Order: sequence, then C-alpha cells, then structure tokens
Amino acid sequence: MNLEGKTALVTGASRGIGKAIAQELGKCNAFIIGTATSESGVANIEADFQHHGIKGIGKILDVSDPPSIESFFNELSDAEMTPLILVNNAGITRDNLMMRMKDSEWDEVINTNLNSVYRVTRHCLRGMMKARNGRIINITSVVALSGNPGQVNYSSAKAGMIGFTKSLAKEIGSRNITVNAVAPGFIMTDMTDQLTDDQKNEMTRQIALGRLGKADEIAGVVSFLASDRASYITGETINVNGGLYMA
Ligand code: NAP
Repeated sequence: MNLEGKTALVTGASRGIGKAIAQELGKCNAFIIGTATSESGVANIEADFQHHGIKGIGKILDVSDPPSIESFFNELSDAEMTPLILVNNAGITRDNLMMRMKDSEWDEVINTNLNSVYRVTRHCLRGMMKARNGRIINITSVVALSGNPGQVNYSSAKAGMIGFTKSLAKEIGSRNITVNAVAPGFIMTDMTDQLTDDQKNEMTRQIALGRLGKADEIAGVVSFLASDRASYITGETINVNGGLYMA
C-alpha cells in the first residue's frame, strides 16, 4: 500500500494503538503528524519516526481542549499542512459503576472521546473537500456494540462515534471522502494494563482466538482503510476483536 504524497494526522500517537498506526502509515510512505499531550510525548514520537525512517513530525494537542485544537490547526495551516488522512485515535477511560459515577468521569470521557472527534474532524474537512479526497478513520471499541459494565461513559462515547461515522459518510461521500470506524477488542496497551491478571484471564476465555490483540493488528486494518484498496468502503465499522464479539 502506497500513501506517498499524503499527509496523515494521527491523534494520540505517543503510545499504544496510535503509535502503531503512525508507524504503519509512515511505512506506507505517508507524511505523519503524530500528536501527544506533552513535550516528552512529542519527543518520543519524533525519536520513533527517526528510528523507523518515517517522514513526519510530533506535535502537542489536547483533544479535550478546544483552544488547543484551534492553535494546533492554525499551526498546521501556517505550515501549509493539509491532512487527507485523519485517524481519530486519542481516547481515555474513567471506569466506574453507574451508581458511583461522578459527573467529572462522564464529562471527561465524552469530551475526550467524542466531542474531540467532532472538533478535529471539522477542522480537517475543508482541506479534504477542496482536494476531493479524504479518509477519516475513527477508533471506536467493541464495547460500543457489546456494552460493558462499569463503562457507561466510555461505551456511550464510542457508540456515538459509530453514529457520527455513518452520518458523516452520507454527508460527504459525494466528495470522495470516506468515513469509517475500527472497533478493537482487547488490545495490549497501557489502557488494558490497568486490568488485573484475573480480569485479563476472564476476558481471554471469551475471545475465540484465545489471546489479547496487538496494536499492529489494528494498525494494519487502519492502513487498509486509508489506502486506495478501500475506496468503496464508507460508513462501516470494522470489528477487530479476535472473535470476542461477532456483530
Ligand atoms: P493508550 O495506550 O492509553 O494511549 C492513549 C493515547 O491517547 C496516548 O497517545 C495519549 O497521549 C492520547 N490521549 C489521551 N488523552 C488525550 C487528550 N486529551 N488529547 C490528546 N491525546 C490524548 O490507549 P490505547 O489502548 O492505545 O487506545 C487508543 C484508542 O483505541 C482509544 O481511543 C481507545 O479508546 C481505543 N481502544 C483501545 C482498546 C484497547 O484494548 N487498548 C480497545 C478498544 C478501543 P499521551 O501519551 O500524551 O497521554
């Protein structure tokens, strides 16, 4: 798959799934803008790109903070960088049972995981419309489809991303812009490291392939959706969960 000449924006590229996606798109020759919330995260992204011979830059972005999004896109515009591939990957969990959930836990998750997708995507649309070319890929989750106790905030945000994906796909399909979602199952990253061994074992028992997934198994699907080979797929949610949940 060759993405030469394309600029790809990957939010949350400092760790886990986003880092693997940035590497994979970079290996397909796209120019990558990878984001992190801290200077040290940006330095790690740039060191990683250099190590793998990837063309790209790291930049600070807090997707939960509208002024941070504004200044980020102003800088891109000043540098004449127009992402034609957008991967909305940044996300957080604040798990709690509904009866104990604090408003702050609900608000942080909806703001970081869903409001951000609306804001970041809107900024990228003008350039894609002008180019009559674009790929938007939203990283949702298996729990958007299956539900999960302790995650009403997270699964609501992730299910919202799927509705967003379908509606936007219908709005902008005529401009040759595709909008799709990828729904990972349980993937080994810092996010799932928070689980106890007992929780991981219990989860593994429910997965047809009998193991947790790897970040590069998500990245491969994202790079396919970003490529010309996926030119007639839009509004879809691709499940990558090892058979944990079959929709
Ligand atoms: P992770 O290892 O915890 O990494 C999260 C990434 O998001 C980091 O790069 C982090 O940046 C960034 N981020 C967090 N808050 C941010 C903010 N306010 N603004 C900008 N960036 C922010 O998570 P992961 O497991 O790779 O998950 C990546 C995506 O996949 C998420 O959307 C997650 O919901 C989804 N997902 C993961 C799994 C799984 O099993 N791991 C399953 C289904 C879906 P910093 O390094 O700067 O903090």
